[in-house]
Amino acid sequence: MILYVIMFTMYDFSVERMDAVMKCPYCAHLESKVVDSRPAEEGSSIRRRRECLSCRKRFTTYEIVESLPLMVIKRDGSRQAFDKNKLMNSMLKSCEKRSVPMSTLERLAGEIEQSLQNEMEREVPSTEIGELVMEKLKDVDEVSYVRFASVYRQFKDINTFMAELTKLLEEK
Ligand SMILES: [Zn+2]
Repeated sequence: MILYVIMFTMYDFSVERMDAVMKCPYCAHLESKVVDSRPAEEGSSIRRRRECLSCRKRFTTYEIVESLPLMVIKRDGSRQAFDKNKLMNSMLKSCEKRSVPMSTLERLAGEIEQSLQNEMEREVPSTEIGELVMEKLKDVDEVSYVRFASVYRQFKDINTFMAELTKLLEEK
């Protein structure tokens, strides 16, 4: 889940989307101070009274917090909400009987989730997530990495599997 803050300025009966920058509706100055702030519409938005630091005029903004799920596009084209637990589980399988601490996997899953959300794309192909996992597992545990890659890349035969192994060894 990601939180978006959308800000509006209301004046003269019109609503202008401000893209998170509070521009004074009178003089277009970008800095203002909040003089009053209170929840509106049962807490789904916050009403703020602001004063422009340049012309000292006052205006009202509404900040609406929206939450949108991050969707994963699977290989067959279907969409599914991003699930950090699923990501953890797929990494756990690859790390079976390896000495990778649970806390490390949690950290990796957190980092992956964070970087996906930073992209601000609402839909991410599962292949992109797979690449991120491989990139991170490679630094943590090579056996887990090769296991994950073999499932993820769906190695058809021993040759493609060997090719991946050779590539890994060459990078060292
Ligand atoms: Zn102003």
